[in-house]
Amino acid sequence: EGIVIAIDGPSGSGKSSTAKGVARARDLRYLDTGAMYRAMTWWMLEHQVDVDDAAAVAEASSRPVITMGTDPSAPTVHVDGHDVAQAIRTHEVTGNVSAVSAVPAVRERLVAQQREIIAEARREAAGIVVEGRDITTVVAPDAPVKIFLTASADARAHRRSREVRSSDVAATREALARRDRLDSNRAVSPLTRTADAMELDSTGLSLDEVVALVVKLADE
Ligand code: C5P
Repeated sequence: EGIVIAIDGPSGSGKSSTAKGVARARDLRYLDTGAMYRAMTWWMLEHQVDVDDAAAVAEASSRPVITMGTDPSAPTVHVDGHDVAQAIRTHEVTGNVSAVSAVPAVRERLVAQQREIIAEARREAAGIVVEGRDITTVVAPDAPVKIFLTASADARAHRRSREVRSSDVAATREALARRDRLDSNRAVSPLTRTADAMELDSTGLSLDEVVALVVKLADE
C-alpha cells in the first residue's frame, strides 16, 4: 500500500509547490484539493447559482462532474469535460470559493471523491501527496506524514502576488487575510493544526529546502 503525505496550511504558505516537489522527488501522485473547491465554485458561477445561498449551492453541488489528473508534473482539473485550470484562478473564483467551501454538502461530496483518489493512488502507485485545509484533520487523519505549512503574512502576500502577477502586494495581503479568516472560522472543517501535525514555517526557506525537509520526514 502506498504512502499518504498530508499537507495543510493557509493560502500562500507554499503548499502547492511543496506538495508537487515532494511528489516528484518520491514518484508519488499529487492532489490539489483547493482546485476541487475552485472547480465547484467555477461551476456555480457559470450556472448563475447564488453562492451566498447555501441551500441553493447544496442543492446544485451534486451536478458538476469534477475530474482530477494527479501527475505532479502536469496536474489537470476538468469540470464536465472542460479544462478549467486557468478559469479557476480568476479573482472572481478566488473571491467566492470560501463561501462555496463552507457548505457542508459541498464538502461531503468533495471529501468522498478525495478519499477515492487517495485509495486509488495507494493501490496503483507508490502513494500520494495531498494538500488543502482539512487533509490532516478530516480527509486523511491517519496519514503517516502530516504537515502544517505556515509562513509569515508578508512572505505569503509576496509569494501570492508573484503567482497572480500583481504588483499590489497590500491588496493581495488583504485578500489573503480575508480568505484565511473565512477558512479558519467556518463551522465545518475549519483550517486548524492538529497536535500530531508537524508545523513547518517556510518563511526564509527556499522551496528546495522545504521539499527536502518533507521528504526527510517521509523517509523516517
Ligand atoms: O488552496 P487554495 O487557495 O487554492 O484553496 C481555495 C479555497 O478552497 C480555500 O480558500 C478554501 O476555502 C477551500 N479549501 C477548503 N478545503 C480544502 C482546500 C481548499 O475548504 N481542503
